[in-house]
Amino acid sequence: MGKVLIIGAGVSGLSAAISLAERGIKSVIISPFPSERAQSVMAAGGINAINTKVGDSTKQHVEDTLSGGCDIAGREAIEGLCSCAPEIVRQLECIGMVFTRDEEGELARRAFGGQTYNRTCYGGSSTGKYMVSAMVMKCRQYEAAGLIERLLWTDFHSCLIKDGKAYGALIFNEATRELVPMYADAVIMATGGQNALFGKTTGSTTCDGYAAGRLFMQGVSLKNLEFIQYHPTTIETYHKRMLVSEAARGEGGRLFYEKDGKRVYFMEDKFGPNGNLMPRDIVSKSMYELGEQVFLDVSFLGRKLIDERLAEVRDICEKYRGIDITKEPIPVEPSVHFFMGGIAVNNNHETNIKGLYAIGECASIYHGANRLGGNSLLAAFYGGQVAARSIAESYSPDGNGAADFSHFASEETEKLRKAGETKSKFPVMYIRDMLAEDMNKYLGIARTEKELLKGRETLDFYLDAASKLNYDRNVLPYFNYSLQGILVLAKAVLVSAISRKETRGAHFRTDYPERDDNYAAASIISFNDGAYELYYDFEKKFEK
Ligand SMILES: Cc1cc2nc3c(=O)[nH]c(=O)nc-3n(C[C@H](O)[C@H](O)[C@H](O)COP(=O)(O)OP(=O)(O)OC[C@H]3O[C@@H](n4cnc5c(N)ncnc54)[C@H](O)[C@@H]3O)c2cc1C
Repeated sequence: MGKVLIIGAGVSGLSAAISLAERGIKSVIISPFPSERAQSVMAAGGINAINTKVGDSTKQHVEDTLSGGCDIAGREAIEGLCSCAPEIVRQLECIGMVFTRDEEGELARRAFGGQTYNRTCYGGSSTGKYMVSAMVMKCRQYEAAGLIERLLWTDFHSCLIKDGKAYGALIFNEATRELVPMYADAVIMATGGQNALFGKTTGSTTCDGYAAGRLFMQGVSLKNLEFIQYHPTTIETYHKRMLVSEAARGEGGRLFYEKDGKRVYFMEDKFGPNGNLMPRDIVSKSMYELGEQVFLDVSFLGRKLIDERLAEVRDICEKYRGIDITKEPIPVEPSVHFFMGGIAVNNNHETNIKGLYAIGECASIYHGANRLGGNSLLAAFYGGQVAARSIAESYSPDGNGAADFSHFASEETEKLRKAGETKSKFPVMYIRDMLAEDMNKYLGIARTEKELLKGRETLDFYLDAASKLNYDRNVLPYFNYSLQGILVLAKAVLVSAISRKETRGAHFRTDYPERDDNYAAASIISFNDGAYELYYDFEKKFEK
């Protein structure tokens, strides 16, 4: 029996596995940690699906998503996403996901930024947890039937590619410390975002972008890397940024700063009564331009509502900052939260390598220059279904033919073995920490050519240093072999940001503060013999 290899066990990976199993196709999911530790469980706010009873429509969801993304995402793909949203929420309920309901027993929906109607369905303040646990239960059913296998303590190393076609992946087994080729009829990447490039973000550092970087070095095109979402309301803690969910503003929370002892509700002053719920890029940019300490007040919503709908925000503020949000405002700052850019895929979620797919946050397709809250869980679930359907359409088990990658596997294994014999002059983790510091410095909310060029220079220095490093026996082998991929990805992000000489969505260039139609398209970047080649996809080659 053939199989599909899925790399990553968050919502998108689980969705693909379930969808393949429904079609009788076996898959193997590999990940270093169980699904319960994937970033998907952190999602608190919700998942979007229209409510026709209040006049909302798929057409409006499509328009909001397109304009929230600043008009560079593909309409056809977004139409597919939005038209399936209500059915996806129904499917999630059918597999046991808990959604909050209103007094009439209807699905409760809250307001989220940039959306014309309240359309974000949620499960208390634990949407991601409820979603993952329902999906894991469904997977177990198919595991018992032999249609899904889940392997832990396994990391992606590289894709097995020959003549533009994927044959599987080289997988690092953390227990045996061996690199093992796993052959498959198709490979689906579901590895999440690129948080580790920036160190302290709202997300999980297990999402380090390595897989995207390594694939890039293997000839896979990446897209829209310059668009990095800064979430406007986060709080600093020792080890990371904690998210104050957009649900807090969706429920009525107000942003303000203090001047002469009085509160100035600057977003409402600038954009009217819905100002607090402008898309994230606009709120973050406004906060940056203001240059004042901004606060978010939800205390006036009352303890009952806060306990029922904002329990996670309440707990985070209490636990990490000792703030009682029922009584006092929360000091908030923007921070890196989501990556609109990633692996370039067509509307079937296939990359430019045949048989290699990408889904969820590691893929770039629906969100353009800025993602709307509640659209990411939706896209992760939907992307898994689309990739599974596409694979099933032409599936023939073991139809991939024989391709031998054992030589490649032993070469890479030899490098890992040597790690035990040599000691590096540079600690690998030091370079990773410095990288995070520099990425924050050069790729902040506001960017300039001068700073971005400095960032690219710094990256060249790190890449050179990394090429001379011996593997460091003091850290997990994964951290050794992933370093170069992460650095190459970071440089590709900088090259993409330097190239786009305009301001659009999350890419805010103070030296080019206006939108410019010469850039009204997705950026596609590829790696060719060490050169970073970029073009703007006006012909929409990737949207077919
Ligand atoms: C705090 C927070 C709150 C959020 N709230 C919402 C919300 O309310 N609504 C919404 O729509 N979106 C929200 N998002 C975004 C959303 O949660 C994510 O975009 C989405 O869950 C991503 O799912 P995924 O399957 O692509 O990736 P993930 O859930 O990140 O899973 C990635 C998987 O890949 C594995 N992996 C990574 N690297 C490797 C490797 N090298 N080898 C093997 N495996 C690897 C990981 O271990 C993991 O299993 C939020 C994000 C954060 C950080």
